[in-house]
Order: sequence, then structure tokens, then C-alpha cells
Amino acid sequence: MIINVSEIAENGLNLNLKKEAEWFNSSTEEKNGLIRVNSDIEFNLDLFKVVREISVKGTVEFGIVSSCSLCLDGVDQHIKIATNLLLSPKETVEEEGADVDHETYEGEHLDLNDYFRQQISLSLPFKVVCNEQCKGLCPKCGINMNSEKCGCDTRWEDPRFSELKGIKV
Ligand SMILES: [Zn+2]
Ligand SMILES: [Zn+2]
Repeated sequence: MIINVSEIAENGLNLNLKKEAEWFNSSTEEKNGLIRVNSDIEFNLDLFKVVREISVKGTVEFGIVSSCSLCLDGVDQHIKIATNLLLSPKETVEEEGADVDHETYEGEHLDLNDYFRQQISLSLPFKVVCNEQCKGLCPKCGINMNSEKCGCDTRWEDPRFSELKGIKV
């Protein structure tokens, strides 16, 4: 995703583009091994030039597949992130904006590849469950308790609690 600054006209530039899942997945093999993007990544961005600064606003949408942290089933999710980025020429001093990401650019080309890969990476969930009521795997035999039943006794009593039972109040 490299944008030629001269293509950003007076009234801005709207970019609708797609990247294949591999564009992201291949860059993060190790870090996000458990979560993969499994759809095209759709960018809908509006770029505006304000004097020498360039503002990039819009959305990035894609699907991911990960594993439920309780039962390990595959879970599909749709992610949509909002982008609000301000790029300044490299030689100018950076200001801290409240809700705006601040990056710099050099020359006549904006290379937004790393920025968006990072944004996507940051948007990935830490912990995924297939649903709130997921029963997980049996801690004894390992079957998926959402779909199967086993005869294992998985009741667990806090040993401190059984001690309390003997105490008469
Ligand atoms: Zn689950
Ligand atoms: Zn079991």
C-alpha cells in the first residue's frame, strides 16, 4: 500500500482497496500464530492534504479465525477498525494529538503497509471464546463438553471450603 502524494487532489482521495489475507498473515507468522486473517482485508480510506500534512481517515475490515480458549474450537470473527492517522513530513517536529496517530513521511510516497499491519495486529483479541456459555474441555478426559458428555467426576471442592463445613457457627 504505497500512495503517491501527488494523487491526493484538492478535494481529497478516496481509496477503496483490498489486500489478501496473506499480506498480513505472512508478516506475523510467529507473533499471532493462533489468530489468522481469513478474508480479504478491505480498506476504505479518505486522504486529505492540509498544507504539508496528510490526514488518513477511514476503516479497515476483515475476518479472523482463532481458537476458543476453552474448547479450542475454531471461532470466526469480523473485525472493523477505525483509522485516524496524521502524517507530517519527516523534517517537521511532531506534535502529540489526542486521538490521532502521528507518523511521518518522506518524499512523495506514503508507505502505509507497516502502519496498517501494526493496526491490524493491535486489533486482534487476546482471548477468544466461542460463546459465553462455552463449557470447555473436560479436565480429565479432554472431550469437548459442548457437544459430548463423559462420565468423569469433575466436581471440585475447594479443600478450604470442606474444612469450613466442620465448623459450627
Ligand atoms: Zn468454546
Ligand atoms: Zn471427561
